[in-house]
Amino acid sequence: MSKIQMVDLRSQYDKIKEEIDLGIQEVIDTTAFINGPQVRAFAQELAEYNQVAHVIPCANGTDALQIAMMALDFKPGDEVIVPTFTYVATVEVIALLGLKPVFIDVTPDTYELESELLENYLTSKTVGIVPVHLYGQCSNMEAILKFATKHGLKVIEDTAQAIGADYTFSDGKVAKAGTMGNVGTTSFFPSKNLGCFGDGGAIFTNDSELAAKLQMIANHGQSKKYYHDSIGVNSRLDTLQAAILRVKLKHLNKYSEARNSVADKYDEAFLGHKQIQTPIRVKNSTHVFHQYTVQIKNGKRDDLKAYLQEKGVPSMVYYPVPLHLQTAYQTFGYKKGDFPIAEDLCTQVLSLPIHTEMKIEDQDYIIENIKNFFNE
Ligand SMILES: *Cc1c(COP(=O)(O)O)cnc(C)c1O
Repeated sequence: MSKIQMVDLRSQYDKIKEEIDLGIQEVIDTTAFINGPQVRAFAQELAEYNQVAHVIPCANGTDALQIAMMALDFKPGDEVIVPTFTYVATVEVIALLGLKPVFIDVTPDTYELESELLENYLTSKTVGIVPVHLYGQCSNMEAILKFATKHGLKVIEDTAQAIGADYTFSDGKVAKAGTMGNVGTTSFFPSKNLGCFGDGGAIFTNDSELAAKLQMIANHGQSKKYYHDSIGVNSRLDTLQAAILRVKLKHLNKYSEARNSVADKYDEAFLGHKQIQTPIRVKNSTHVFHQYTVQIKNGKRDDLKAYLQEKGVPSMVYYPVPLHLQTAYQTFGYKKGDFPIAEDLCTQVLSLPIHTEMKIEDQDYIIENIKNFFNE
């Protein structure tokens, strides 16, 4: 048996090697390394896939968030509501731009910002909300958008973990994750659901004026070469990465299905288990299972993780510390106890191996060892 991994990128590559290698070679042959035709083509293909008017490729998912906030004209001192239980990038760019992150707690079983609490965090300085579609399932976009519209706030969806997920509104309208707010951002980090062979990211919007501005900011604030209308950044998707992503985008739906099959099997194996809470699936969103994250209810999460490690089964804690308690964010004046749900989750969550190439015998082995841990 080969080593079990959280994500098996090698086996995935082996299956599409020919196509990927051809794509890479084509870029090398033409030496169009920066802004080659593959970048444009990929943006168009992704726009079509997502049913969104504009896709602006950029260098990574963190830049995507930063560029989005710059293009929305958020100014120093403005407040942005953001879940405290997310990856640091979401909050980092808020702080970097001199904005104030206003943390909000998350729901205990779907890990999304608690939309019922939004009202409590609204001030005259609030300009935006950043829902994070954590682990691959959409936040409660209907409630968030309703609140944002009522109060004139912008919504930036952090879709780094949920590309391809479908959200259904109560009127039956269906939209892809990242295309419902004013702006959506995503990451093509290798282990993400649509991952390239290095760093990459993209920004989505249906607003043509905003799209032009996003494009301009990502490109040194220039709309015409050497004429700079605003302060921008240098954030590009490499042509090589675009060539790889064009191939992988064609497989994205199949990849999501493969992840769902793994999730279904875990669900079934742990059904009714008293110490393991499996992911709760909401009815408004499909789940693309970037992570399969369980909650360990008996306080033995870390023991389980160590036990699995010994048996050759990797697992990860996403995330061990909520952002309001991170050293870097102490200046914003939060303390332990401010967001009890997120704080509890940090001690209970455990993400199990899930990827597109999971072998049945490997998953059986993982499940067996998890069950053994509780039976010992
Ligand atoms: C991965 C990730 C990012 C950042 O993406 P990078 O491409 O690594 O910069 C942002 N937000 C969330 C929720 C992520 O998971």
